[in-house]
Amino acid sequence: MTIRLFKPCVGSEELEAVRGVFERSWLGLGERVEQFENAWCEHLGCSKSVAVNSATAALHLSLSLFRFPVGKKVLVPSMTFAASANAALYNRLEPLFIDSDDHTLGLDLEDLDRKYTKDCVAVIPVHYAGHPVQMNELVSWARHRNLKIIEDCAHTSGSTYLDVPLGRWGDLGCFSFEEKKIMTTGDGGMISGDDEDLMAPLKAKRWVGIDKDNWKRAAEYTEKNADARHWYYEINLLGYKYNMNDLAACIGLCQLQKLSFFFESRRSLIKRYLQNLGHSDRFKPLVPYEPDSYNYQMFGLRCDRRDELMIFLKNSGIATGCHYTPLHMQPLYKVYTGYCPFIEREQARCITLPLYPDLEIQEVDYICDRIHDFYK
Ligand SMILES: *Cc1c(COP(=O)(O)O)cnc(C)c1O
Repeated sequence: MTIRLFKPCVGSEELEAVRGVFERSWLGLGERVEQFENAWCEHLGCSKSVAVNSATAALHLSLSLFRFPVGKKVLVPSMTFAASANAALYNRLEPLFIDSDDHTLGLDLEDLDRKYTKDCVAVIPVHYAGHPVQMNELVSWARHRNLKIIEDCAHTSGSTYLDVPLGRWGDLGCFSFEEKKIMTTGDGGMISGDDEDLMAPLKAKRWVGIDKDNWKRAAEYTEKNADARHWYYEINLLGYKYNMNDLAACIGLCQLQKLSFFFESRRSLIKRYLQNLGHSDRFKPLVPYEPDSYNYQMFGLRCDRRDELMIFLKNSGIATGCHYTPLHMQPLYKVYTGYCPFIEREQARCITLPLYPDLEIQEVDYICDRIHDFYK
């Protein structure tokens, strides 16, 4: 038996959609991308969404919109994927690492307040594993200090916190559709927000700086008169090759339809894990799971003898992981400030266990049995 750690849940619907894109023979940035953006706006209830090829790109571009002076600081949790901090470095800003809340493993709001200086310009909360940061408190704290808020929603999709969807609390929300995330387009990302003026440069920024949609230019060429000047475009700013393409977007449209099914299946698997594992003084859940309320990307534990447990589970055919090695401990980021003693200790107790809609209840039972065997 081998049980994977993550597995994308794609089926015949996605395959049919890809067939449709093949038949139209337009694989790049096109109408499907625009349809996906519109569907995403409707799903989130926001006024503008721009699709890109990753959440890494989404975070980079989101932060760039504010044109912060070089060298200013961005408050980022240490316990996150590199992309959250790279967004600062790509924009010639400095990450300032924040310790994790011992309960949720999200931003520790006390450490945030302690480390804040006048040089800080933005904060990037990460809803770790899908568990929401206390956004009501964070937002009022940040607004008082005139900080911009970019939500890193890579671990969440379709969750609401205090009646506001995650991704709509801050100035901009960045989502990931990488294959290990709650919904996937293979690789992909989305930037969502309500400030259309702020977001106006995004379409050019994701398309090498070109401010005209390629597929609309193609339509002008075929539908209009001979001198429509379809080939003409202006480049007013430095853009990147960060666009989503129609192949990815058509998969995203199908996945969005399945989001409530994904929520349901993750909910019942997490409930089964919690039920089977019960209370122990050797381990506890990674975050305070509330599977009826939030859609979680990861299930895991904080446990004694973590490394031994990983090997034991591997020998039982169960893949595990560790998300993450805190960034302030990584060689690249060591030069930036951010003493985070709690997560530096706690990370050695964190283990990620299999979670995805196709995981069988019996597999969850097997994993839990093996964990109990290990601690016996
Ligand atoms: C995966 C992830 C990202 C980056 O997402 P990509 O779409 O792979 O670029 C950013 N932040 C966090 C917290 C992530 O887990």
